[in-house]
Amino acid sequence: MVRVSGPRANSIVQALSPGKELPPPRQAVLRNWLDDSGEVLDQGLLIRFPAPDSYTGEDVAELHGHGSPVLMRALLQRIFRLGAQAASPGEFTRRAVENGKMDLSQAEAVAAAIDAATLRAAKLAQRQLHGDFGRRISELMSLLTGHVAHLEACLDFPEDEVPPLFLEELAQAVRAGLLEPLNAMLATAHLGERLFEGATIAFIGAPNVGKSSLLNALAGYERAIVSDMPGTTRDLLEVDFELHGIPVRIVDTAGLRASRDMIEQEGVRRAETAAEHADLVVFVADAIRPETWEAHEKADVLVMNKSDLTEVRAAPGFIVISASTGDGLDQLRDRLARLLGDASFSDESAIVTRERHRQSIETAINQLQAGLSMMNSESEMDLAATEWRAAWTSLGEILGIGDVEHILDRVFSEFCIGK
Ligand code: GDP
Repeated sequence: MVRVSGPRANSIVQALSPGKELPPPRQAVLRNWLDDSGEVLDQGLLIRFPAPDSYTGEDVAELHGHGSPVLMRALLQRIFRLGAQAASPGEFTRRAVENGKMDLSQAEAVAAAIDAATLRAAKLAQRQLHGDFGRRISELMSLLTGHVAHLEACLDFPEDEVPPLFLEELAQAVRAGLLEPLNAMLATAHLGERLFEGATIAFIGAPNVGKSSLLNALAGYERAIVSDMPGTTRDLLEVDFELHGIPVRIVDTAGLRASRDMIEQEGVRRAETAAEHADLVVFVADAIRPETWEAHEKADVLVMNKSDLTEVRAAPGFIVISASTGDGLDQLRDRLARLLGDASFSDESAIVTRERHRQSIETAINQLQAGLSMMNSESEMDLAATEWRAAWTSLGEILGIGDVEHILDRVFSEFCIGK
């Protein structure tokens, strides 16, 4: 499909099918599209979305051709000759933001919904696309506008005429109405970012403790080679799967042990590196081999495997499991998801899903706090108001409000072309 957006969309459509009336809005009509010499290039469906009721807010025309790459390219070239130019990545959505059809957080949700690797992430992106998150932010911004106005009103009065209670109430309103909800949102960022960016978990432990078996059991299919011979996992094996809707990549490393085998040494070195870069490190021990129990200092989770072979009694700190029977795996999954930030949030629409949003919220919190610490001294009260106004601007960046050209450039560079 070729999508044309902008003030010349209609004239381009008319030039492609000379003598044909523009069809009524949002109705598919069959059209021949002619090239410069009047020959038919392709035939297809034309749909018009006149401004402002279109995705971009501009006149939009969609041309659904037969889909052959050759014909599509020829049609595109013809459209370019008629005055259109190729859209840059995310340009349609960028125009939608610039024309007030959506805020910047919704635009990011478009990209997130397209990229989402799990249904949970996709659903969250849909809520953001719906504008729930943006509305939360703009509610907080209007609240802040009121508080700034009150503080600035105090500036116009001599200090002894401002009732002290008034300032105390104002501070309290900022704490309860802004800082609390913003901090609550911040607490969700760990999960939110992982839902979209994914997380890596590295498995470490001695050879033959069952790391590959555990990985297969968690991922639910035979991916890693399981073998009785110690050191079979010489290279890193990576398996992607979902953990409570979080896209997770598990890296199964070669056993951590001193080895004289050159290839295995390389495997051990890579295991160390993988453990350093992973979000979580899971140490796996073998219940029937006490020599495998000494946990690596980098481990976040300790797992005692092969519980089916022996009755595991004293294993403090270990989650006892059996990769063979599946015992204990649910508990392990819950623990891993919790460490990746999973929790039930009362208001899922307030989950922070982008690092960009988290940074803006963090900055706003710092500015609000700076303002709070200044507002009680008359000489600094105007600085306090300045801090709060800066906090408003920081929140506005999330929605794309204010002087945000550089932010728009960054956000839309991550889009694909045609969106
Ligand atoms: P790795 O070297 O740590 O990756 O270990 P593997 O996953 O290759 O497993 C080594 C051996 O232990 C294989 O023979 C597995 O079948 C066996 N094994 C792994 N997990 C269990 C378990 O929970 N119970 C029992 N009985 N055997 C297991």
